[in-house]
Amino acid sequence: MTFCSKCGGELQENSVYCTKCGLKVGDSMHKRSRWWYLLPILFSIVGGVISYFIVKENDPRLAKNCLILGAILTIIGIAVGVVSAATSAYFWHMGF
Ligand SMILES: [Zn+2]
Repeated sequence: MTFCSKCGGELQENSVYCTKCGLKVGDSMHKRSRWWYLLPILFSIVGGVISYFIVKENDPRLAKNCLILGAILTIIGIAVGVVSAATSAYFWHMGF
C-alpha cells in the first residue's frame, strides 16, 4: 500500500496521479525504486534476496528482477572464479 506524499491519500497500484490532489506520483516512485538494483549489484545473491523481500510488497516485478539479477551476478562471479582458479592452477602446473 502506498500513499501520496503531498496529501497522504491512498494511492491505487501503478497509478500515475493521486486521485485526491492530482499530484503526479508515478515518475518519482519509479525513479526511487530503481535504487534497489544496487543491492544485487553490490552483494550479488545476498543483496538480491534482501531487496526481494523488502520490495516484493510494493513492487513484485522489481523484486523478481532484483532476485534474478543477483542470481545472474552470482553465477558470473562463480564462473570467473572457477576460470581464474583453473588458469592459475594451469600456469602453476606449467612452472610459471
Ligand atoms: Zn495527493
